[in-house]
Amino acid sequence: MNRAPLPSSTPTQEDLDTLSLQLGRPVRDVVEIPARCICGSPLVAATAPRLSNGIPFPTTFYLTHPTLTAAVSRLEAAGVMAEMTQQLSEDQELAEQYQKAHEHYLQERERIRKKAGLEPVWEIEGITAGGMPTRVKCLHVLAGHALAAGPGTNPLGDQTLKLISPEWTPETCACETAWDHSADVPVADLSRHVRRLEERESS
Ligand SMILES: [Zn+2]
Repeated sequence: MNRAPLPSSTPTQEDLDTLSLQLGRPVRDVVEIPARCICGSPLVAATAPRLSNGIPFPTTFYLTHPTLTAAVSRLEAAGVMAEMTQQLSEDQELAEQYQKAHEHYLQERERIRKKAGLEPVWEIEGITAGGMPTRVKCLHVLAGHALAAGPGTNPLGDQTLKLISPEWTPETCACETAWDHSADVPVADLSRHVRRLEERESS
């Protein structure tokens, strides 16, 4: 049975600026903010499956909050991905849930694609991210999906969030010191380039 689609959350300019500050680079092609901190800051960005430069982008749910990404990186460094891949080979029920998570990811990407008004992205058809559906290659992807979809959709994403809970939980706000709120918002190279062209044309 299909799950209900996730609630939509169209990003505001303030959201996009926050994402750029969190990541330290200009963000592009963000269609939704599927998960937020209790304070309202984005935790995850949902990106169009084809970027405006034409490149296919399979990672629909991208973890953006620096506290979260750092905690997940430490788990990866500790070898948790190999342990989880092993679990998948031993636990049939987990493997089935993980397969369903893969299907949910594809469904959600389709919804995001349509919302962005894009044609089907044939290059990544049937392909998700993070190693789904049979392996675990990126815990950031799984945690991003778990936060976007809520508990019970991606079992290994849920497990990842549980493992980082000493450092971050959905109930706590770590935004104040997680990134520089007063920094200049990184600007897209493209807009600078366009501006330069316009200046040249008008001179
Ligand atoms: Zn916060």
